[in-house]
Amino acid sequence: MRNPYTDAPEVDPIDVLAIAAHPDDVEQTCGGTLIKLAELGYRTGVLDLTDGGMGSRGTPELRLEEAGRAGQIMLCKYRGNMHFPDARLENALAGRIAIASEIRRLRPRMVILPYWQARHPDHYRAAELGYEGCFLAGLRKLDAYTEPHRPRKIIYSAQYDSVEPSFIIDITSQFERRMAALLVYQSQYGDQQQASDLFPSQSEIRDRLETVAKFYGHKIGAKYGEAFVVKEALTFDDPMAVASVRSF
Ligand SMILES: [Zn+2]
Repeated sequence: MRNPYTDAPEVDPIDVLAIAAHPDDVEQTCGGTLIKLAELGYRTGVLDLTDGGMGSRGTPELRLEEAGRAGQIMLCKYRGNMHFPDARLENALAGRIAIASEIRRLRPRMVILPYWQARHPDHYRAAELGYEGCFLAGLRKLDAYTEPHRPRKIIYSAQYDSVEPSFIIDITSQFERRMAALLVYQSQYGDQQQASDLFPSQSEIRDRLETVAKFYGHKIGAKYGEAFVVKEALTFDDPMAVASVRSF
């Protein structure tokens, strides 16, 4: 049933939802994995919590338009924005409930969050908000209009802090598409004069992302990789599933 408070239309469920603080975050943390999942036939989506309106460059409208195009390049079926205040993201009840409502609408089986420790407060708050939104989404009595839904698994991108990954995904075949998605954000990464002392050039950003992807790729014998952390222990109904995990 449709939630009369959000008035958002019903949508086909998605398999994997990445939640992040700013447009252009997932393109730098887990975009290759999202592309890989889409190529494998899974329905993927991105929920950005803010429109990045406090950034030195660009306008919120432009960044939302760029986010939509970047989402298409990453083969996402959905890209939404909660329009929470940028650079002052708060873990407040209203925000958690709004995220929970969106999770109930999208019904993802897996959610990807930013790592829970980070330099930028928005990044770790996005991890908290995402986690608590997933929890609330599973409560039957959250609202009287929508079915409860709790994702089966939350995984965290290992970016934003030095942390030993739980697993690494080979994104060698997806790296260039991920790079193309990031460079859609011409308001941020176009080689322009405005605030050029604050922003890396395109070649610098490519160099930076390539270095990180190579670092993790080499750990699994691949050219490029994206690293993830799981908080809770993993368990398998079929213990032989462990044997399908390739070690390097
Ligand atoms: Zn960010």
